[in-house]
Amino acid sequence: MTIKNIIKAAEELLQSFGDVSLPIRVEDIARGLGIKVLAYPLENDLSGVLVIEPENVTIGYNQNESRARRRFTVAHELGHYKLHNTRPNSSQVFADDKFLVLFRSQNVNEDSEEARREFEANTFAAALLMPESLLLQEIQNLEFDLGDERTIKELSRRFEVSTTAMYYRLLNLRRV
Ligand SMILES: [Zn+2]
Repeated sequence: MTIKNIIKAAEELLQSFGDVSLPIRVEDIARGLGIKVLAYPLENDLSGVLVIEPENVTIGYNQNESRARRRFTVAHELGHYKLHNTRPNSSQVFADDKFLVLFRSQNVNEDSEEARREFEANTFAAALLMPESLLLQEIQNLEFDLGDERTIKELSRRFEVSTTAMYYRLLNLRRV
């Protein structure tokens, strides 16, 4: 799947949800799709899981992580749900350890199927939580210097994402 199509899928989901005010209500978006979103007693090296059963879809996040991280995890699992849920009427489980949900993905070697899926889920999550149009709008409103750490901090606060997530999003949009 191309990056363009992944971003389009995230934007369409956001449009269908209707509320594009900040911060993006990612848990409500998931619930709007009939997905249960729960804190899971996950081992500490796991960030999140997506459990797809014929009658039930559940996203579990690690409750020990920061709110910004949990939001990204939910968005990432939503990415798997929208992009990789390819076996209708059967069960499927995605489990994400912390390493996989990091943002190195734009440069990751995409030769493995798993790496490609993680890259796609991260791309989807970033586009969902930090839509380009809203981000550009906020940048204009701020009139800060994007080379200034405080700007990235302020933007990440408004979008309720980690500063790392914001930094990589801006990098991918060629804003820093
Ligand atoms: Zn994943």
